Amino acid sequence: MFTTKLTLQDILPLTCTRTGTCCHGNQVFLNPWELARLAHEKGISAVDFRSNYCDDGGILLRFNGKADKRGKSACSQYIDNFGCSVHVGRPLACRLFPLGRQIQHGKAEYIFQGEQFPCLNGCASVVELPYLSVAEYLKGQETDAFEKAQDAYLEVMQNLAENAFALLLDSGLAATGETKTLSMWRDLGKADAKTLAERIGEEWLMALLLPTIDVLENPEEFAEIHNELLQEKAQEQFGSLQSLQAFHEASTLMMSLALYLARALGAHPESLSEHWVEEAKGFGACE
Ligand code: SF4
Repeated sequence: MFTTKLTLQDILPLTCTRTGTCCHGNQVFLNPWELARLAHEKGISAVDFRSNYCDDGGILLRFNGKADKRGKSACSQYIDNFGCSVHVGRPLACRLFPLGRQIQHGKAEYIFQGEQFPCLNGCASVVELPYLSVAEYLKGQETDAFEKAQDAYLEVMQNLAENAFALLLDSGLAATGETKTLSMWRDLGKADAKTLAERIGEEWLMALLLPTIDVLENPEEFAEIHNELLQEKAQEQFGSLQSLQAFHEASTLMMSLALYLARALGAHPESLSEHWVEEAKGFGACE
């Protein structure tokens, strides 16, 4: 699809008409901090929010509300004639819409996809409202903490992938000439979120999506503590493995977690898995 990159100074029809067009028929992915924020805003536990309002294991906001005139289902948090019921806790994807955000060479870039600016399709009346620069729009949407959470969880993702590397390379598994682990990494990059969630299993999904952490107001600290909890769990479970089969399974699980989190963050799992496979081959692993 055609992608347009924006600078912070670009001026666009970014003022929201609050018609809710963007709350129908979209895909909104959640990182674990966003899931916790939404649950807090809703006044329920993250466990209940995940069960009642999320799909694909817990990283996709459920869209099962009343359809709009285009036949697109509303987000489970959308209330007709009112709008978003969790406005203060709404995730980054909702704050950015209709923009997207991607990290290139360590820097955030803002984009939109399609031939023309998307709001002109769904909310043609935006052209009658004041235009904003991208920077003004982001400020008004209070994206800062949510962007920090996104970046902090990219590091958590990288650390999970590094565990997969260690279990393959430092265990002696790669040195045996074993090939199925890297083949599996590559296949996992092509798997959808639901398949990855099933593969990961409930115990690790809970560790990834439902950590018990109190510092909700500080996303970076939240992600840092979460990272420590995940690393402790990995150490407990994989610190004394003996068989090559056990190292293969553990490496595959860690890669599944990294790629599942990549999906939650809107990263591109297939490119990531290909990159990591090539990197592991550079360290002597075989495929
Ligand atoms: S969370 Fe709120 S803003 Fe986001 S899609 Fe759902 S109703 Fe719309």
